[in-house]
Parts: sequence; C-alpha cells; structure tokens
Amino acid sequence: MLIAGITGHICDGCIIQAQSIVKDELMTMEDELGSEAPVNLIKPTEIKQKLDEYVIGQTAAKRTLSVAVYNHYKRLNQKVGKDDIEIDKSNVVLVGRTGTGKTLLAKTIAKLLNVPFCIADATVLTEAGYVGEDVESILSRLLQAADYNTKAAEQGIIFIDEIDKIARKSDNPSITRDVSGEGVQQALLKLLEGAEVNVPPQGGRKHPEQKMIKINTKNILFVCGGAFDGIERLIASRVNRQAIGFSNELKEQVDGENLLEFVNPTDLKSFGLIPELIGRFPVLTYLQPLDRKALRRILTEPKNALVKQYVKLFEMDGVDLKFDGEVLDFIVDKAIEFKLGARGLRSICEAILTDVMFELPAEKTTKEYRVTLDYAKGQFSKSKLAKLEAA
Ligand code: ADP
Repeated sequence: MLIAGITGHICDGCIIQAQSIVKDELMTMEDELGSEAPVNLIKPTEIKQKLDEYVIGQTAAKRTLSVAVYNHYKRLNQKVGKDDIEIDKSNVVLVGRTGTGKTLLAKTIAKLLNVPFCIADATVLTEAGYVGEDVESILSRLLQAADYNTKAAEQGIIFIDEIDKIARKSDNPSITRDVSGEGVQQALLKLLEGAEVNVPPQGGRKHPEQKMIKINTKNILFVCGGAFDGIERLIASRVNRQAIGFSNELKEQVDGENLLEFVNPTDLKSFGLIPELIGRFPVLTYLQPLDRKALRRILTEPKNALVKQYVKLFEMDGVDLKFDGEVLDFIVDKAIEFKLGARGLRSICEAILTDVMFELPAEKTTKEYRVTLDYAKGQFSKSKLAKLEAA
C-alpha cells in the first residue's frame, strides 16, 4: 500500500519500520533523562515559612530540619568530579513526645519538595529470620509511595517512627540475642550506609516468588522520630556531671522544663542506641511539648486545621458551622488531660460532633450551627473518651 505525501509516497512496510525506530529512540531518551519528577529545591528560610503554614511552634526543629533538607538536596544536585568535596548525608533524629509534630514535619517537607515519602514503624522491624518485618520492607513502602518509579524512590524521604523503641534494653551488650533491639539497629545500618539493597516490591515475606528490585539508598534521606521517654534524666545527669568544677551558670541554665534543648548524641547512646547508628544521624533536634496556647492555635491556625476541616465538611451540606471560643478551650483542656499532645484533639472533636454530623444532613432547614460549651460538655461526657477518663 502506498500513501501519498506532498512530494512523494511512502509504503506501509516503511511506515511500520519507521514507527519501531521512533519508539526505540524515545525509550532510550527517556532512560537517559530518567523519569523522576524534579525536586523543588527551596531555600531554608522558605522551607521554614512553608512549614509554619502547617506546623505550630517547634522553631528549633523547623530551622534544623530546613537546613538539613536543603543541604541534602544540594548534595543531590552536586555533580561530583574527581577531587571534589563529597558532602555527607544529613539524616535527622527528632526527639520529642508523642503528638508534638514529628511526623507532621517530615511529611510536610516531603510534600514541599515533591519527593516520595513513607512512614515506617521501628517497633515492627526485626532482624532477618525472626517473626516480623525485615528492614527492607521500609524500602518496599517507599517504592510503593513512588508508584514503583525507582529513580524517584531513590531520592525520597523515609520517616522511621519510634526509633527509641529499638534501643538496647541494658547498657551492657547482652550475651543472648536481642531480637527487637540491637539486632534491628544493626540491620538498619545497612540501609543507612547507602548500599544497593534488594527490595521485594510487594513487601513482606508472603510472596517468595516476587522479583527483587534494586534500590540504592545513597540519596534517601532518613528522618527518625522518638519520644525517648526518660531521656531528660540522662541529659540532666550528664549536664550536672559536666558542670562539676565549673560555675553554677550551666546548671542554672538547665532546669527541668527545657532539658531537651540540651540533648546530644551522648544521651542517645546512654539511652541504648548503638554508636554506629548514631553516627549515621548527624543532625539531632528536639520538639517541645505542646502547651495550652499551642494546642489552641493548632485547632484553628494551620492550613488544614481541624476546625477548618469541620467547617468545610458542614459547608458541603450547606451549613455554616461555628464554635464558641469556650468550646475550643474545653477541647484543649481535655487534650491536656489525655497527654496525647495534638493527637488527642481529633478524637475529642469527633466525640463532640458525631451526633450533629449524623443528624444534620437529613434536615433541610438548618443553615447555621453553633457549638456551645454546654452542648460540647454534654456530648463529651456521653462519649467513650469520657469513660476512658473515668477509668
Ligand atoms: P508525633 O510527634 O507523634 O509524630 P504527629 O506529627 O503524628 O506526632 O502529630 C499528630 C497530629 O497532631 C498531626 O497529624 C497534627 O494534626 C497534629 N499536630 C501535632 N503537632 C502539631 C504542631 N506542632 N502543629 C500542628 N499540628 C500538630
């Protein structure tokens, strides 16, 4: 078959051949360019500003994290020549109580930079051969978050939660194997060292037949979070030891309230992390416990603050939702009682609003709904949470 053009003809055989040439060429081009999404490199001050939109307070952690992330991605963009200075990775440990924003910070940064992000829980990890998850499963998760784009995954951010839970139980290395603690720390080292790791794409050990995918962890940024319960005591005793023979100035600076500010790698070691692991996390920062004022702001100020979310949900039913100021104070009081940081706010709001959210959509007449303190208290006392409190 001949197809006519303006100045000549082309036959069907040539068209088929040409098409396969074009296809091959395009595929090689794609391979060379790589198909990862471009990382948005933004300056530390801008990162901090963006974080402020989502995370309340935690200035020290925000500043430290902004710099670490900026340097990390500068390192990625560096084209290393023969005698160039190689920049080390700046993995981060965040120390702070539960519900103070550790995960939120890491998650927000990944979103800003447009890189794949995943959360792994250190408590479920075990050494290879034991019941639980291998450390490689963390990479499976990142790969899934990257839609199986290996190149994108290799520039992602992994948040490992509850890193303090894999601390060695006692300071002297035990003779018996410590399945949940030191062994896992050792296993994690492999990921942190920047090695090529064989990753089961589906994760887990349930699919022994799956083909492994190689992932290089050299450019993956690791952020760890942990509450490190009791670390204040370790910090205090170290600072006091160091202060012997010096003026009392240092001792006076350090009172019970702000001890975390002084956290340093030695304290992580006393807590039970192995030195090799600590060495892989050159950046260490802390998050403050959230006080009443911070919790109150968290309810209303962040871009996707809880109150804004509920207002939006009601708006979708054509209802204008309003909270009395006292209600917000009440929610904060309860959150403080539960000692869950900002984590408690959501379930308290749910306890108060579930009944209205159940009934209102069926009504057509209500255009405005005001939550009063009496109503909030009543709803809360009926809820499961109140029973928890009583117990
Ligand atoms: P953790 O420190 O235990 O990792 P998260 O970051 O998971 O705590 O916080 C739990 C929830 O509480 C978040 O989803 C967020 O809504 C809220 N939250 C915690 N800390 C803050 C904060 N500083 N600013 C705004 N919201 C916060």
